[in-house]
Amino acid sequence: KPVTEPILCAAASAFDFGGPMVCDSHHYGEGHINDTFVVWRADHTKRFILQRINTDTFTDPAGLMENICGVTRHLRAKIQAEGGDPGRECLNVIPTLSGASYYIDTEGNAWRAYDFVENTVCLQQVGCEADFRTVAETLGKFQNQLADYPASTLHETIARFHDTPNRYANFEKALAADALGRAKTIAPEIAFIHARKKDCHVLLDQLAAGEIPLRVTHNDTKINNVLLDEATGKGICVIDLDTVMPGLSAYDFGDSIRTGANDCAEDEPDQSRVHFDLHLYEVFAKGYLSTAGSTMHTAEKRSLAWGAKLMTLECGIRFLTDYLEGDHYFHIARPNHNLDRARTQFTLVRQMEDVFDQMLEIVCPDNH
Ligand code: ATP
Ligand code: MG
Ligand code: MG
Repeated sequence: KPVTEPILCAAASAFDFGGPMVCDSHHYGEGHINDTFVVWRADHTKRFILQRINTDTFTDPAGLMENICGVTRHLRAKIQAEGGDPGRECLNVIPTLSGASYYIDTEGNAWRAYDFVENTVCLQQVGCEADFRTVAETLGKFQNQLADYPASTLHETIARFHDTPNRYANFEKALAADALGRAKTIAPEIAFIHARKKDCHVLLDQLAAGEIPLRVTHNDTKINNVLLDEATGKGICVIDLDTVMPGLSAYDFGDSIRTGANDCAEDEPDQSRVHFDLHLYEVFAKGYLSTAGSTMHTAEKRSLAWGAKLMTLECGIRFLTDYLEGDHYFHIARPNHNLDRARTQFTLVRQMEDVFDQMLEIVCPDNH
């Protein structure tokens, strides 16, 4: 549903921005989930991010905002104790005039507001290695600062988000139903997934066995969810905390590798152009471990390589499931779009498997 000027202005006037506001109903930034706007104080001294939360994806905005408030409060205290600038290095939730963390508009939609983190850039693609390393360090630091946060108190904002065996089971259901008769055209992709059934269990089995810890994870660790300083390129702030949940460090590490350690589009139709970049994997791993590594034992470091493979496999399974079910979940712009996306993920998985020993060695040089 579109956001109209009156709806936006009504939302803006619900928050404690410290004065009258002017609104611009053009979307800001390149997010795909929420509706993001910038609002200014009428005297133009300060601007804020105002977002309408996508409640189709996030059905419990109260739980989601409780997560974000808890996590940002914890981060702020850590940043302060480390002599950092909590105003810039952490999202700051602006309460409503009645002191709530979110506002419900007349159409029933939920809104929230943050301070605008000024003088930063938000990269859409990995431009240079140095930036990728910085993103890794910033995400590792985020994890480190949340290492003592009680992960199990967080709400699961999307149920079973990285439950790979469950994603596999959903794929099997879609395949059995074969609602559009597409299964016969994708035998190689089906065989690819079936051959990796056991792999899907590796991380959750390690968690269940107590070999790797439950962590506070971000779960959407693309590079455009990390803001870098415009002038120095330094890592400043991890944003987009909707999917902060209990999880595994392997999820965050893995999703960054899936999205960043290659030079192809997620929906590249020409598989000969899909290349997993082991060097970028190493760059990211070194950056991530330099800030998060001190809290991690051998088994957890090892699990990072599995995270890279399983986040990629899981994503491919989800694309193929949606293809079988008739493209209801992921927006498609052409026929076979989800099939192309799935194939790209599987090509990356195959290439990771070819160098998996090296991937393990890089994250866990002492013992793999
Ligand atoms: P995604 O598709 O990654 O899930 P989203 O729809 O959840 O995105 P956000 O990532 O929260 O939206 O915000 C969209 C964009 O707005 C960001 O990529 C960033 O450019 C900008 N942005 C968000 N929060 C802030 C902030 N506090 N300060 C400055 N810019 C911000
Ligand atoms: Mg985002
Ligand atoms: Mg998001």
